[in-house]
Amino acid sequence: VIESELAQLRTTGVGDWPFVRSGRLSGHRPGLSAYSSESSEAIRFCNHCGNQVDFYVPAGDHLPRHVCVACGNVQYRNPKAIVGMISEAPDGRILMCKRAIPPRVGFWTFPAGYLENGETSGQGAAREAMEEAHAVVEPLGLYLVINAIDANQVYLIHRGRLRTSALRPTPESVEVELMREDRIPWGALAFPAIGRCIRQYFGDRQAGGFPVRTMVLTNVQHAGSIHAF
Ligand SMILES: [Zn+2]
Repeated sequence: VIESELAQLRTTGVGDWPFVRSGRLSGHRPGLSAYSSESSEAIRFCNHCGNQVDFYVPAGDHLPRHVCVACGNVQYRNPKAIVGMISEAPDGRILMCKRAIPPRVGFWTFPAGYLENGETSGQGAAREAMEEAHAVVEPLGLYLVINAIDANQVYLIHRGRLRTSALRPTPESVEVELMREDRIPWGALAFPAIGRCIRQYFGDRQAGGFPVRTMVLTNVQHAGSIHAF
């Protein structure tokens, strides 16, 4: 059932984990230095009627918005949701992928990407595992909420049970591999936050449970800190 459901989900090719925003890939170095404030980016035209927009605080609001001078349409910019999946095989290894697409080509991560309309965060995380590694994963629940506040992103990292051993590379991953904790390439991970998530996962597993945790990432606090809710 899971396999057939996943097969129906469309492939997007998006796997920007993390810190690089859609449509702004050129010139960005990976990592937290890619952060910038969403509000400083210009929206020039109304997405409803095509006229110009002004940037000001509308009556009754408390933040500046892009407001169309002709039709009054307001274009809100709010954080994007990104989903990720830490998939565990029956023998305890977890699924890792070597990235085939920017940013950080050739570095390792677990599957993650933008949440799509019409799917739950667990479904989206499982879809990313399918897209990046042909992995059929049963979502087990939310594990980590990462508030990347300067990137205007919220990461919803799930845990999952791997339901297939037929993993293989994809257009998004040049290699896919199940790894024990002592096989994780800590020096070749795509982003520092990936390592923090994985270390926390193995630590919680050893301690016997997976409380839902939060992590805050800012552009001055590279590593962030992890707290249980
Ligand atoms: Zn308009």
